Amino acid sequence: MALSVYSLEGKRALITGGGTGIGLGIAQAMVEAGAKVVITGRREAVLQEAVAQLGSHATYRVNDITDKKAIPGLVEDIESNEGPIDILVNNAGIHHKAMAQDTSDEDFERVLQTNVVSVFALTRACAKYMLQRKQGAILMIGSMAGLFGVDKVVAYGTSKTALTGLVNSLVTEYSTSNVRVNAIAPGWIESNMFLNAINKDEKRKQQITNRIAMDCFGQPSDIGNAAVFLSSEAARYITGVVLPVDGGATVNF
Ligand code: NDP
Repeated sequence: MALSVYSLEGKRALITGGGTGIGLGIAQAMVEAGAKVVITGRREAVLQEAVAQLGSHATYRVNDITDKKAIPGLVEDIESNEGPIDILVNNAGIHHKAMAQDTSDEDFERVLQTNVVSVFALTRACAKYMLQRKQGAILMIGSMAGLFGVDKVVAYGTSKTALTGLVNSLVTEYSTSNVRVNAIAPGWIESNMFLNAINKDEKRKQQITNRIAMDCFGQPSDIGNAAVFLSSEAARYITGVVLPVDGGATVNF
């Protein structure tokens, strides 16, 4: 198989939360594969630093994904001023750690709002253009916590499981227009979210490592490389999958 089917040359990707961690890893991998990327997030300084690192193929937009009214404008702005969005990566997300009985309605709603409601709104706004062009790749960044039960993450786990439902539903409507929808379910990937979640606790880190078949944490680039594959021509017949990228953690649980 020619290596060029993995190339993203000539493609433009919108990556939410692309200034840090996994989102930055995805942006880096996509730039290396030839794509132009637009990264978003709420902190301009973080985005500026990321763009400086990514080089001339990257731009940014300051955007709070939970600001529903801003979403159509964000997509229109990129489509008219930069060019067509061929790839959407719904990566931005928040974590919330608490026992179910200690999780308030407000916490639950906040997590669902960021991790699911906003993802649907942005997907719908981008798909409007993709469906007209009959071409597009949409990726959700889910989680291992959406595939099976994990304690103390009731809101987060529910939100990530919901992304599977979103993928399933969208595939039934978008596929005839050649718009593919897939998800990646990362395992434990070294990022700020992960380090905060384990509270920099070395003992906890070791306990987690013991649960990973490959005996080590993943890196943002591991998710980036999978994202490149699923967005590329090499995956032209792949839609509706949730791909675990977790060093075997899911089967080792
Ligand atoms: P980070 O905390 O580093 O990244 C989260 C990103 O999302 C930040 O860039 C943040 O930017 C952005 N973000 C959060 N809220 C908003 C918002 N309201 N509007 C716009 N951007 C927002 O964590 P990760 O890189 O680890 O997480 C990325 C994704 O990967 C998440 O969806 C997470 O659930 C998922 N994941 C991570 C795992 C891990 O082990 N690290 C495991 C499984 C899944 P800013 O704060 O500037 O807005």
